[in-house]
Amino acid sequence: MSHVYQPLLISFLVESGGAATIRQLAQEFALADEASVLHYEKRIKEMPVPVLAKRGVVSKRAELIELQVEKLTYVQSSQIRAACEKRIADFLQSRGVEIWSGLLEMDPVPSTVRYDVLKRDRKCVLCGAAPEIDSDVRLHVDHIVPRSKGGSNEMSNLQVLCSECNLGKSNRDDTAFGEIDDGKANAETV
Ligand SMILES: [Zn+2]
Repeated sequence: MSHVYQPLLISFLVESGGAATIRQLAQEFALADEASVLHYEKRIKEMPVPVLAKRGVVSKRAELIELQVEKLTYVQSSQIRAACEKRIADFLQSRGVEIWSGLLEMDPVPSTVRYDVLKRDRKCVLCGAAPEIDSDVRLHVDHIVPRSKGGSNEMSNLQVLCSECNLGKSNRDDTAFGEIDDGKANAETV
């Protein structure tokens, strides 16, 4: 959407009385970014809504999501919001900015590097699962040191994991399961 950056910036500056911080501008850009809005619509429908609906916390009628509680008092609303904000802050502190999935998509592993990593490892470096043996196996290119902790998109920081091992490996864990491509064995396993 680069062709809209300049008019967006000028129009927001005018609206803000002539000045705005980079942060404020970035937030305005994010709101106008249809791709990221669509991304979050999809995420919201896939994840929190079904889980919370199952627990009876929210209901979903077509595109409308409603909290399934009696009218909240001001104090109750404030307490719920404070508890949710604390939860987000705690999670952000323990996992880093990577919880915001959009950040990962902004700087994906280049497809040529992805190809080279798959060619190098060929199978899950943890459990050995390979699509040649089991056609249900899906291989992922995983960051040994997570992006949120400064891990790079270099081959030495990438390894092939199957979806199951990838799910089992949390972002906090920077264990290299196999050998990394500089030839140094880093065979620590969990
Ligand atoms: Zn595996």
